Amino acid sequence: MALKKPTKVQFIRAVAETLKQPELGKMADALERGDCPFCGKTPKLDEFADELSLKEYGISGLCQDCQDNMFGKDDRTVKLGAK
Ligand SMILES: [Zn+2]
Repeated sequence: MALKKPTKVQFIRAVAETLKQPELGKMADALERGDCPFCGKTPKLDEFADELSLKEYGISGLCQDCQDNMFGKDDRTVKLGAK
């Protein structure tokens, strides 16, 4: 029987369970709904400033505001190790 690769949400749930961090579980719930795991709002696709921010949303699920808080507004290029 082949192992199925867990989805990102399943992975976070497993980590939340292992580390006994219910907050992480809530983040997994938000991600599953397509909501931002930090602030819980549902980002609109047209709120993202550029393609890089949109890609970051695809990876981390963070809305533009939370991305700006985390990475800084002025240096979006630090994300994803982009050059
Ligand atoms: Zn957010």
